[in-house]
Amino acid sequence: MNTETRREIFDLMSTHDHEQVVFTYDPSSGYRGIIAIHNTALGPALGGTRFWNYESDYEATIDVLRLSRGMTYKASVAGLNLGGGKAVIIGDPTKDKTRHLLLSMGQLIETLNGSYIAAKDSGILPEDLDIVSEKTRHVTGTTKKQGGSGDPSLATAKGVLAGMQAACQVVFGTKSLKGRVVAIQGIGHVGWNVGNLLWKKGATLFVADPQSSRVKRAQQTWKASVVPLARIHRVPADIFAPCALGGIMNADTIPQLRARIVAGGANNQFLDEKADPYLLMKRNILHVPDYVLNAGGLIYLVVREILHQRRLAPWMLNIERTVKQVLAASLQEQLPPLVVANRMALQRLESH
Ligand code: NAD
Repeated sequence: MNTETRREIFDLMSTHDHEQVVFTYDPSSGYRGIIAIHNTALGPALGGTRFWNYESDYEATIDVLRLSRGMTYKASVAGLNLGGGKAVIIGDPTKDKTRHLLLSMGQLIETLNGSYIAAKDSGILPEDLDIVSEKTRHVTGTTKKQGGSGDPSLATAKGVLAGMQAACQVVFGTKSLKGRVVAIQGIGHVGWNVGNLLWKKGATLFVADPQSSRVKRAQQTWKASVVPLARIHRVPADIFAPCALGGIMNADTIPQLRARIVAGGANNQFLDEKADPYLLMKRNILHVPDYVLNAGGLIYLVVREILHQRRLAPWMLNIERTVKQVLAASLQEQLPPLVVANRMALQRLESH
């Protein structure tokens, strides 16, 4: 990494107020990863680990910095006493994920003494977290066999659905999803569960995913229409649901959107968080901020593994209530919902 890039990274850390960012390379296992701890004012920083084939270390750094800050805001708005953190592993999970590498990651997490608590994100499975947990206690979402609560994606999807219903109430005057047309970008863990819940509610689905087995399954199970990757955001739909990776909403794609609502599980949906939310608002498209909508997975891990409780339903209602609150304030103040949600998150952090 050259000095120019390094300076930019430290500038980014200070811009977003990160507490600690750890870059680690372990040549014996090939582990190359970054753990970013954004803010621990409310509690330890819990957040997923993403295993992704980034084009550059710099791209990975930007991703982990943005994702970890999103976790701080997510926990704050959801009313959880947790901080925000996230980890990325640089590599192709289908080729580079080995037991040795996951143990290296566990060792590293252990050195942070609980300030970062791991969970799953793209490219990581509960079984992988079982291996990580051989080296550290600071892991959530391990398999049930290992004493954890397993994959939180269904809970994430339930929260996404609750938020979609709240958005439909605002735009269409009814929260019913029956007959609504929804275009889902990415039908992995979250996207698949979102699709399934929508299908059960009578929605008509359009899907796109580079993995052909997944789209085939969606065609067969839900009678979904399959759309090329580059066109999914252009489908004339009631709801566009980004459930893949970040940055889908940008200066190029926003003018092409033909949905009334954007509400999905993917983190960091705007490429430029300052300008893009305003572009979307100008087009009169309602956006439900991702970290408000997709908090269900985080809540699930906390309720099951930290609070040791069973009932999730009141927490899901809370997501719906928060979405309603954010959308109402956004309409009243003529501000993008993301700006309103960020303000709510910061208020709780500052008053703590
Ligand atoms: P996943 O890896 O299981 O699924 C992602 C899917 O997106 C895959 O099927 C992949 O093939 C597909 N994809 C990749 N590029 C695509 C493209 N250009 N167009 C369409 N599809 C594409 O990951 P996941 O766990 O489902 O997470 C999805 C998103 O939701 C991520 O942004 C993640 O951070 C966020 N999220 C997940 C959870 C959770 O509980 N898993 C919780 C909160 C937020």
